[in-house]
Amino acid sequence: MIKGNIDVKTENIFPIIKKFLYSDHEIFLRELVSNAVDATQKIKTLASSGHFKDELGDLTILVEVDKKKKTISVTDRGIGMTQDEVEKYINQIAFSSAEEFVKKFKTKTEAEANAIIGHFGLGFYSSFMVAEKVELFTKTYKKGGSNKPVKWECNGSPQYTISEADKKDRGTKVVLHIDKENEEFLEEYKIRELLNKYCKFLPVPIQFGTKKEEEPIEGELDKDGNQKTKTIEKPWIINNTHPLWKKNPTEATEDDYKQFYQELYPMNFDEPLFHIHLNVDYPFNLTGILYFPKVKSNYEFQRNKIQLYSNQVFVTDSVEGIVPDFLTLLHGVIDSPDIPLNVSRSFLQSDQNVKKISGYISKKVADKLEELFKKEREAFEKKWDDIKIFIQYGMISDTKFYDRAEKFSLLKNTVGNYFTFDEYVKHIENSQKDKDKRLVYIYANNAEEQFGYIEAAKERGYDVLLMDGILDAHFVNTLEQRFKDSSFIRVDADTVENLIRKDDTVLPSKLDDSQQETLKTAFSKVIDEKQFELNFESLSETDVPVMITQNEFMRRMKDMSAVGGSPMMGIGELPDHFTLVVNSNHPAIVALVKKDEENQLKGVRHLYDIARLTKNLLKGKDLNEFIKRSIDMV
Ligand code: ADP
Repeated sequence: MIKGNIDVKTENIFPIIKKFLYSDHEIFLRELVSNAVDATQKIKTLASSGHFKDELGDLTILVEVDKKKKTISVTDRGIGMTQDEVEKYINQIAFSSAEEFVKKFKTKTEAEANAIIGHFGLGFYSSFMVAEKVELFTKTYKKGGSNKPVKWECNGSPQYTISEADKKDRGTKVVLHIDKENEEFLEEYKIRELLNKYCKFLPVPIQFGTKKEEEPIEGELDKDGNQKTKTIEKPWIINNTHPLWKKNPTEATEDDYKQFYQELYPMNFDEPLFHIHLNVDYPFNLTGILYFPKVKSNYEFQRNKIQLYSNQVFVTDSVEGIVPDFLTLLHGVIDSPDIPLNVSRSFLQSDQNVKKISGYISKKVADKLEELFKKEREAFEKKWDDIKIFIQYGMISDTKFYDRAEKFSLLKNTVGNYFTFDEYVKHIENSQKDKDKRLVYIYANNAEEQFGYIEAAKERGYDVLLMDGILDAHFVNTLEQRFKDSSFIRVDADTVENLIRKDDTVLPSKLDDSQQETLKTAFSKVIDEKQFELNFESLSETDVPVMITQNEFMRRMKDMSAVGGSPMMGIGELPDHFTLVVNSNHPAIVALVKKDEENQLKGVRHLYDIARLTKNLLKGKDLNEFIKRSIDMV
């Protein structure tokens, strides 16, 4: 037996490892299993290159928990290590990174330390976060008398021992003797949970426990003629070694993608809208599948659903600041060996590779959407209403994405036709330019409530866009900033004449000043002047006698404060403010002037109520009285 001291320049690092990696204790399992996977991949490579000629045998990695002995062990059939290699890799190399970590750590505050922790893969030594003693049994694949099986043992002091081991199989077995504070890891469910989190898609089969399964007994039927089965116990392989994202997109079916979504999110029962399969090896190696989920309301945004992998090893699923903000709304996986494995979130966020990857993904997503749009426009239009929230969010928050999405982002009008931005300009450019040659985009955000206004605009030959999505209020602002020489106005923001002012001419008014004054007094007596501003306009006889409009600017301020992120945040809920437009040329209005005061007020009240009714503002007592009055009239 050899006794030795781990090359210690930092006195005893183990208590420090134990104490300060507290929050991340659980990663020990990922580290050990990853090492086992690496060793297995290496033997496979040696075999395929002809350097290893023996049987590979069953390469399944075994994870076992012995509650009585308080041990967790990980066994692989990989390349194993010679005694020299144990000295070199375990005592020197593996240790030195752990030691470096502790050195950097010691002079720092806890917050700084947390940032450092991420930089160092403690790898093998992370076992000491949960174990009071670690044993390693290993047998190299190499032939020859000096390549005997080796046992390495260390009890959490700088001393280790190396002795000859009695090991028949090639490969390595690491046994952790779990300490008192970490006995939770001896629970089977806990280990299963961790394997599920970190190892679910590792490329080598990993067995943990056994599973009971029903198997048909050949040729035997029960009395009802059903196939007889027997219960058999099978090794429980916890991972899927060939996850879908590693496949060539041409080999995967629509069903495969749906199934894989279920595998990723077993608790999510909705089917995704569609997916994007990323599969590139230049400028870096990157694979993955991104899903566009169904979003039913504002509250259903679920961030942190994308999982990052590095060569099929789970890294993190808290991707905020790592992938572009709007992509955090998507689901799926991203796998790249360039994503560093043993790092903290803050480190990931500032990592140059990760930044490049993030920008690249954003570009890839735009490319795929453009491709889909070009190839299958009809299908794209069908999905548009559901996916536009993601695209608009991207366009609002990421100017580069806006530039790309301009080509396929769609506008939909109230008739249900879809246009690209360019197409829409062509569609309205002859009819919707105002006197200053500015293009006016008219939109509705509720086809039902604004029905009357939409009809009036249509009669004028105007096209009305339907902007009724969750983000449309914001999106209108973004478009207005981007579109040159144009403006957006909601269909109920003004009278049809004023939506697009084609010239400065005004129709002559049929009421003279004193007649208008009389009616103004009557209206002032009836309407709620806190809510409505009165405005007489000489419109066409065929227009409505009274209507309610809502100033575009004021309304936008209010809309934005409701969605959040408004420039007027902090002011609180803004009150609605409307204009009551009276058409001084309408026969009903002209007729009112001639009536006695009582009938004049009656008429005014009725017209005011009708205007409010059109805008869904007539409620409660006023509505009730209106109904009574209407019945009386009949
Ligand atoms: P890393 O895996 O990042 O290199 P580790 O501390 O986890 O760091 O391991 C150090 C080295 O020990 C590995 O690079 C490898 O050479 C060796 N090693 C660890 N575990 C095994 C194993 N199961 N089989 C063979 N070699 C191993």
